[in-house]
Amino acid sequence: MMPTPLRIAGLIEHAAKWHADTEIVSRLPEGGLFRYTYAAAHQRAKQLANVLTRLGIQPGDRVGTLAWNTHRHFELYYGISGLGAVCHTINPRLFFEQLIYIINHAQDRLLFFDITFLPLVEKLAPHCPTVEQWVLLAGSEHLPTASTLPRLSSYEALLAAESADYEWPLFEENTASSLCYTSGTTDEPKGVLYSHRSTLLHSYAASLPDCFNCGARDVILPVVPMFHVNAWGIPYLAPLNGCKLVLPGPALDAASLYELFEHEGVTFSAGVPTIWFGLLQYMREGQRQFSTLRKMIVGGASCPPALLQAFDEELGIEIRHAWGMSETSPLGTVSTLKAQHLDLPEEAQFFFKIKQGRSIFGIDMEIVNDAGQPLPHDGVAFGDLLVRGPFVVSDYFGATSPGQLTANGWFRTGDVATIDADGFMNITDRSKDVIKSGGEWISSIDLENLAVAHPAIVEAAVIGVPHPKWSERPLLVVVRKPGHDVSAEELLAFFDGKIATWWKPDAVEFVAQLPHTATGKLLKTQLRKDFADYELK
Ligand code: ADP
Repeated sequence: MMPTPLRIAGLIEHAAKWHADTEIVSRLPEGGLFRYTYAAAHQRAKQLANVLTRLGIQPGDRVGTLAWNTHRHFELYYGISGLGAVCHTINPRLFFEQLIYIINHAQDRLLFFDITFLPLVEKLAPHCPTVEQWVLLAGSEHLPTASTLPRLSSYEALLAAESADYEWPLFEENTASSLCYTSGTTDEPKGVLYSHRSTLLHSYAASLPDCFNCGARDVILPVVPMFHVNAWGIPYLAPLNGCKLVLPGPALDAASLYELFEHEGVTFSAGVPTIWFGLLQYMREGQRQFSTLRKMIVGGASCPPALLQAFDEELGIEIRHAWGMSETSPLGTVSTLKAQHLDLPEEAQFFFKIKQGRSIFGIDMEIVNDAGQPLPHDGVAFGDLLVRGPFVVSDYFGATSPGQLTANGWFRTGDVATIDADGFMNITDRSKDVIKSGGEWISSIDLENLAVAHPAIVEAAVIGVPHPKWSERPLLVVVRKPGHDVSAEELLAFFDGKIATWWKPDAVEFVAQLPHTATGKLLKTQLRKDFADYELK
């Protein structure tokens, strides 16, 4: 067979040749909707490669982006990685100190940013000595008349000065292509460096029928940001499959998303539960329905059963629950039924659908006890979830301390899970969030999912608090919906019959809001600090 290396540039070349007229539609941060084709996107990605070359970018150099999901960010994905440099996507939701840390750690030489981030970038610049040039992702008419930014230029102006005459270089497929830092709740952010090979293999795997099931008739709108874990690989698998790509820019509110879904005939979307809850509320308020959307992926955090049920029953949308992490590129498991489940009653099918799902090809997984011994796949035994495969990280970028791999080469995910006899994995907790009561584990995620199924509750978190007899007991901390009232007793009664009695939280606390990480996940370290002196009555 031909030893053709797997390269990211191959994806855009393929789409430009075989899906030349298929559209990319992009909502611009500076206003308006932009529309072009894969053929045109390829031309501009090649112009960008010429810009980068002129600016002295060499293979292996890191180039930063602080940008929304737009066509320009898409071009950066291809222009930077295509020439052999590393596209470092930066999450603007990280805290200021973390942003400084990662830009310096990555030693970004250029930084491309959307106009929304101009004030942030002006504050960052004095702390980022490696950045030689700041490039505004807009036309020169949008350049500020007065800015403290040194060496500021316009992306459109730079592109306009270059031709599209460029040959993507051939190089080894294990060459680094892109870099994403995990937010980390206590430690410094850690960089996950993807390669061309890992990205291509992940794109194939994610496209499969039991994963995203994408094809040339699909119109995909990734709500998941391109600034975090490559928008779950969608900017790569869309050209691989010839899907029309709809990029929502900064407008991530329910009304703007719904408008794009309907206007562009979106068939498929992907996002975190919070986004879909917002959309659900909007759909209910206006008694709206989707005309083309048929399927969505929910992941990044556990999908509450109430969400999956509502989309299925009220809106006729198939929600697929997926699990993954930056370190797994990110897709690890997706919950789709096997043939043997199709004759089961709906309730039994739901039991499988709501789990995090089955391993996709390329991800092997195991659960182990504290001694590292494998646990049975019986859907009951909990253990540390380990994964390995060609798109799983082997070590963090520039790591100086030992990595997270076991002696047998498994990556420790930091999640705790069960695996059942049919291969469905179910996350019960992050290992640091597990509640140990009398030596037995209680799943905080299960309790949180139950709490948000109550009509008066918007968000819930369960943490362990010290207990003299059981060492730890669960405390439920909740945010009530405005105008809804529910007492602690009523809420606890809601758990009756739904879980083992000893899992029932010992107490409930009502708060105005819960703390979150930069990527919108519950920040339980903070919550544990807030309730450190909590005494159970
Ligand atoms: P961060 O947002 O901290 O940078 P990631 O985006 O890589 O990190 O998040 C990965 C973690 O998110 C997983 O290890 C897991 O704890 C959690 N997670 C992702 N998907 C799910 C899911 N479907 N159910 C429960 N937890 C999930």
